[in-house]
Amino acid sequence: MKNSLKDPDLWQEAALIDGQWVSSTPHGTSDLFNPANGDLLAKLPRCKEEETTRAVVAADRAFRTWRKTTAKHRSAILYRWWQLIVESKEDLATLITLEEGKPLSESRGEIDYAAGFIQWFAEEAKRVRGDVIPAPKDSQRIVTIKQPIGVCAAITPWNFPAAMIARKAGPALAAGCTMVVKPASQTPLTALALGQLALRAGVPAGVFNVVTGSDTRAIGGVLTGHPLVRKLTFTGSTEVGRVLLQQSASTIKKCSMELGGNAPCIVFDDADIELAVEGILVAKFRNTGQSCIAANRVMVQDGIYDKLAKRLAERVAALKVGNGLDDGVQIGPMIDVGAVKKVEAHVANAVSNGALILTGGKRHELGGSFYEPTVLTNVTPRMAIAVEETFGPVMPLVRFANEAEAISMANDTEFGLASYLFSKDASRIWRTAEAIDSGMVGINTGLISTEVAPFGGVKQSGLGREGSQYGIDEFIEIKYLCWDGIFND
Ligand code: NAP
Repeated sequence: MKNSLKDPDLWQEAALIDGQWVSSTPHGTSDLFNPANGDLLAKLPRCKEEETTRAVVAADRAFRTWRKTTAKHRSAILYRWWQLIVESKEDLATLITLEEGKPLSESRGEIDYAAGFIQWFAEEAKRVRGDVIPAPKDSQRIVTIKQPIGVCAAITPWNFPAAMIARKAGPALAAGCTMVVKPASQTPLTALALGQLALRAGVPAGVFNVVTGSDTRAIGGVLTGHPLVRKLTFTGSTEVGRVLLQQSASTIKKCSMELGGNAPCIVFDDADIELAVEGILVAKFRNTGQSCIAANRVMVQDGIYDKLAKRLAERVAALKVGNGLDDGVQIGPMIDVGAVKKVEAHVANAVSNGALILTGGKRHELGGSFYEPTVLTNVTPRMAIAVEETFGPVMPLVRFANEAEAISMANDTEFGLASYLFSKDASRIWRTAEAIDSGMVGINTGLISTEVAPFGGVKQSGLGREGSQYGIDEFIEIKYLCWDGIFND
């Protein structure tokens, strides 16, 4: 497997602690499997409390010098890291497809997206500015300075193994913080390859650490409980986010949370149907439906419901399913059979309550964790598939009559990450975009992720924003200096 890479040294079966590759621990190894065929890909050392604590202590030691480097210096190192990621795009994309399953073309897209965050924050490193505030007394001067928060723990999901790390490490390192990353146990290889490139780029030992293995609770316990960790940045499910927030409370860590979603995609009668079809397909089926901003409920106005359903079903039935490494594949396997079971349960619940299957609706003949791309009609807002995050290649179509009903249905959820609108009426778009409770709104598009815009959710979809000019704020403390007696002599 290692030899499937042009640069085999990017394949690391070892944790990265204090600049050293740690290939064994006293706790054995965790197996890593390819979701497309079940092949054993790698054996990763199982880190537990001791190894995670070592990484935290190393990150703290490294922080003392890294924080004192100039922004220009950190920027240059991040630029070099960005360049190396871009140069290694094919290898990194191969690693993503092998461990996560998404089609190679999407993995390449993810590397572009991930690299974009490192480049963006190489630029932003130089733009962290304080203020001079008019003081209430003429003997005083008041200024603020911005300083790195300290050691940051990053816990990331499997669905975007490179981008979810880059979106956190870029701003953290730019600000002068150091980091311990716990990647998902199903996708550590991409994280470790990023670690290898970070070392080559000149990121000093201890500044970027990666702990591996499936002892999630042991690792998470240290990352959320250790007093030297000053910040937790998490991307994953709302359920786990809630637990990590509770665990972080004892040491009052600054927390940012990128959590689950239940994105409504609202298609009004006046939408451009072909534009809507393209947008909905991307919003729903990217990464086999396993995206936090996936359109979970496609809500279609009465007047175009039947026409749009027919058009979507034709397109979905033609999607090519297979191993993401094979040419032309558009839909890969789901991450594991557990994920397939959740999709099956949602489809069964919908059908037993009156939904109709237009295409798909069952496991794919390829077996394993492959599921047929599916379109369901007659879905109603209270079915499980419209209430919970399905996280799979199933598109439920819900009917609505008017704008007020669409907004009310869209907001009837505890989530608020992304939403999508398709309409040609500018007034309706403004009204609806302002009325929807979500952190992001895609208008006549299904593709909204970019490093230049703030990514994040409201309600139980998260706290904080990643990317854009705001992303670095999550890794910074503002210190206020009140200086008196300046003019005494
Ligand atoms: P998950 O089960 O919440 O896991 C996310 C990460 O948390 C993994 O690294 C996991 O480790 C770790 N984890 C789980 N339980 C933990 C614990 N008790 N202590 C410490 N760490 C723990 O989510 P997932 O299945 O990987 O990802 C899918 C979810 O992520 C979806 O809900 C999706 O919407 C959300 N997501 C959100 C965004 C966003 O930007 N808002 C982006 C992508 C994904 P293990 O892998 O070892 O279990």
